Amino acid sequence: ATEIRLASRPHGVPTQENFEIVDTEVPTAGEGQILVRNLVMSVDPAMRGRMRDVKSYAPPFEVGEVMSGGAVGEVVESNVDGVEPGDHVLHQAGWRTHAVLDAKRFVKVDGDAAPLSTYLGVLGMPGLTAYAGLLESAEFKPGDTVFVSGAAGAVGSLVGQLAKLKGAKRVIGSAGSAEKVRHLIDDLGFDAAFNYKDGPVAEQLAEAAPEGIDVYFDNVGGEHLEAAINSINLHGRIAVCGMISQYNATEATPAPRNLAQIIAKRITIRGLLVLDHWGLQQQFVSEIAPLVKDGRVKYSETFVDGIRNAPEAFLGLLSGANTGKMLVRIAD
Ligand code: NDP
Repeated sequence: ATEIRLASRPHGVPTQENFEIVDTEVPTAGEGQILVRNLVMSVDPAMRGRMRDVKSYAPPFEVGEVMSGGAVGEVVESNVDGVEPGDHVLHQAGWRTHAVLDAKRFVKVDGDAAPLSTYLGVLGMPGLTAYAGLLESAEFKPGDTVFVSGAAGAVGSLVGQLAKLKGAKRVIGSAGSAEKVRHLIDDLGFDAAFNYKDGPVAEQLAEAAPEGIDVYFDNVGGEHLEAAINSINLHGRIAVCGMISQYNATEATPAPRNLAQIIAKRITIRGLLVLDHWGLQQQFVSEIAPLVKDGRVKYSETFVDGIRNAPEAFLGLLSGANTGKMLVRIAD
């Protein structure tokens, strides 16, 4: 068995040195437990937050301890009623090839209903984030013009497509490469998109949204948030989902500098945490799974192969190496 431990806490951009790859004995399942062989695991931006030693909604990873996060695996041994070897389960003991789990720490998933990887992406936590964030936090309504940053990523790509499907007037996305911009327009049906590295975000957004925006779904923060406040219309709504442009910052970042506009425009800015929205999970899956199945909702996945390359996958996620969900394929 192999596991990835946090070797040290990063200062600024994480590096391979912050991770330690350790070979261990394959564990065995005790009473009321299962042993799982992990097949695919997720790397998520929130893991950068958990590498810090600060109190937040999820506890920090401890130095010297194996990291954790979403994964899907195959049951190898089971001492839990109703769970058989060969079953597939979704759980939070990623960053390792094998995991022993108590009965309360996993849910069964069906690889025939949808590809196993999608339980970590479009039909999983990122998908629910997009769904709840757009419909509840941003109070989306048909006719809105929606801007989403991080638009080619796991969350952002679903936000844009959902907005289109639910009757947005215009959907605009930003991403970090020309290829991602092409993907947003040609493959995902965005009305406009721009590469935020090509020039000031405020100028590019104003050009893409000549009549302004009504909703901003923020995955990035900083300059993007400032630009959105400039472009937002009266009674505009901003769902703050993530601020990935700041996760590696070592000093406070200046933007947004235009918060006074909140008053005259009566803007609503609402923080969004997916943990608050698990109650929507059933509704979300029953609505979105059929759309995924018949291709009306498209999703991409970027796979990195091998548990030993999980740190590389995580570092790649933070620098935009992924289109859609970033995943590590641990075994077939
Ligand atoms: P993504 O699949 O979007 O991957 C992260 C992307 O962020 C990269 O591909 C990269 O794309 C982009 N990025 C990296 N650095 C910057 C930067 N400086 N400026 C702009 N973009 C950058 O990840 P997720 O879909 O999983 O997550 C998206 C956001 O949602 C994150 O901020 C995350 O923290 C947040 N989130 C919040 C949740 C909540 O409950 N609040 C739950 C899940 C996610 P590019 O090439 O375009 O730069």
